[in-house]
Amino acid sequence: MLRWSIATVCMGGTLETKLAAAARAGFRAIEIFENDLTFFSGKPRQVKAMAADLGLEIVALQPLRDFEGAPPATRVKNFDRAERKFDLMEELGANLLCVCSSVAEDSSGDVDQCAADFAELADRAARRGYRIGYEALAWGRHVKDWAKAWEIVRRGDKPNLGVVLDSFHIFARKNDIAPIAKLPPDRIALVQLADAPGLLMDPMSLSRHHRCFPGQGDWPINDYLEACVASGYNGAISLEIFNDQFRGAPAAAIARDGMRSVQAAGEALDKGRVARDQPPLNIGRPLPAPAKILGVEFLEFTTNPQQSPRLESELAGLGFQRVARHKSKDVELFRQNDINIVVNREQDGFAHSFYLVHGASVCAIALRYDDPQRALERANALDAPTYRGRIGPGEALIPAVAGVENSLIYLVKAGAHDAWAQDFNFVDAPDAKGPLERVDHLSNVVRRSEFLSWLTFYKTVLGFTDDPQVELADPYGAFFSRVIRSEGGEVRIPINIADGGATAVTRFIETFGGGGVQQIALSTGDLFSFVENARAGGVAFLDIPDNYYEDLSARYDLAPELIERMRRLGVLYDRHKDGEFFHIYTKMFEQRFFFEILERRGYDLFGAANTPARLAAQANEFDRAMRDRAMLEID
Ligand code: MG
Repeated sequence: MLRWSIATVCMGGTLETKLAAAARAGFRAIEIFENDLTFFSGKPRQVKAMAADLGLEIVALQPLRDFEGAPPATRVKNFDRAERKFDLMEELGANLLCVCSSVAEDSSGDVDQCAADFAELADRAARRGYRIGYEALAWGRHVKDWAKAWEIVRRGDKPNLGVVLDSFHIFARKNDIAPIAKLPPDRIALVQLADAPGLLMDPMSLSRHHRCFPGQGDWPINDYLEACVASGYNGAISLEIFNDQFRGAPAAAIARDGMRSVQAAGEALDKGRVARDQPPLNIGRPLPAPAKILGVEFLEFTTNPQQSPRLESELAGLGFQRVARHKSKDVELFRQNDINIVVNREQDGFAHSFYLVHGASVCAIALRYDDPQRALERANALDAPTYRGRIGPGEALIPAVAGVENSLIYLVKAGAHDAWAQDFNFVDAPDAKGPLERVDHLSNVVRRSEFLSWLTFYKTVLGFTDDPQVELADPYGAFFSRVIRSEGGEVRIPINIADGGATAVTRFIETFGGGGVQQIALSTGDLFSFVENARAGGVAFLDIPDNYYEDLSARYDLAPELIERMRRLGVLYDRHKDGEFFHIYTKMFEQRFFFEILERRGYDLFGAANTPARLAAQANEFDRAMRDRAMLEID
């Protein structure tokens, strides 16, 4: 039976913790990495009992290293080592031993000698009822590619000898995967699964530090899975990830992310099969299909009565109108065309708790779905904590999922505009027109160690897709960004992480007490007149150095009057193909968040070319704020 498995090496902690985490996440099979036994205080047969109690099958023990092609004296010792592994397998109740290709300097790459070594190993294993799997390591001395490992297995010619396929080594070596579909299925001992980012580095470093779960990297995992199952393979598909950040995180969270990623991989696999009129495989637990994300219904800010007037005057400066008041809470709705901003000043409940930890901030985002009920069922099926808040009589209960730092992501029905009137009293018919049209995108800042986890959350639980990773310079370090987007592009969220002690991202994480929404980008059809009015209305925008505009005139053939107007207003510019992009940033609110106002003229990117200029300007602003604070303290 096809089934998902996870290797103990994916997780950190003790072996007991790892087994419990795997079982809790819904895995029914595990692969035991021998190093985990070394630090286990009990006997291997206790591991067998523990796994059995948790309903976990041990699909394999690994690895036996540097086995094949050894000189005669070493060869004898290698068989002794193998027999000791068989003893261990007996205690564990495992029946597959994985052997990875030798890296030994004195080993031979002679295919027939290696095949003879494996034939004898398989015979010895058969006497005890075990199977042998042979895996090509991308950095093996002679065997680096799965096709060569398969050739050795084929020539070894034993029914209990098979090849181990691992997407990591296969993609790291850019191996052809099409022939996998033609392998005899009973000669595939195990299928292993790992993704990785498209970084240019040697395969061993990439393997040891950057492997990640399917969907977190850039490799065509679906094509690989399709080839494996097309062969007729019907065994375990095992996640095997070496990643320092995974081992540093709680095992339960990593096992949960692993389960989310394989469920999404299984879903993608079945989608392709159904499209080709093949029956779905339904590996593992059933998963409700993702609902369609159709936009942002509202953003909710938490604040307190002292800070609230400043936030409200900033919103007014940006053209928002106060249109409604909550029936039972100290909550108001500010609106401008399609953009709804909820300001929550409650002194207890969720928003207030969020305020106490994070200060004035976006505590909730409401996403419009075509089918919010199905979105919620999917979130539940993928083990996402859901939230139901306190409501007054007759008020709407909006289901929510916990997001970054336990902020809320509400799931609301697209187009259900009447729902607002259930909870809010509207003032006399303001049509809430204004220059700003819609939420263009939001940026999320997350801790580097949590980046992959949130990526998997957005993609699997909420139904987003992602773009390749972008790397930029911050005056105090490096800055990385990956955009997730709804299928139709209605909602886009760049997820930003950084390296460096004083980068904008790190400063945000420190002042904010974790990750969250740092930037709210709103679109307008006429940025220049918007900025003129907003400046006149007292909105403070980020100061952009003159050098930026000199550089702009050198890079682009723009009319000097246009550049002068941009300089005077602090507007930034980018161009891609025929599209033009004009944008501006407000000053940070309490060092926590800022608004970006943008005008797209046939441009579909995010102005990443200007991000270093923005980060430098924010760093200057931050330094000034720190100096002012230091002066105050001296006074
Ligand atoms: Mg492997």
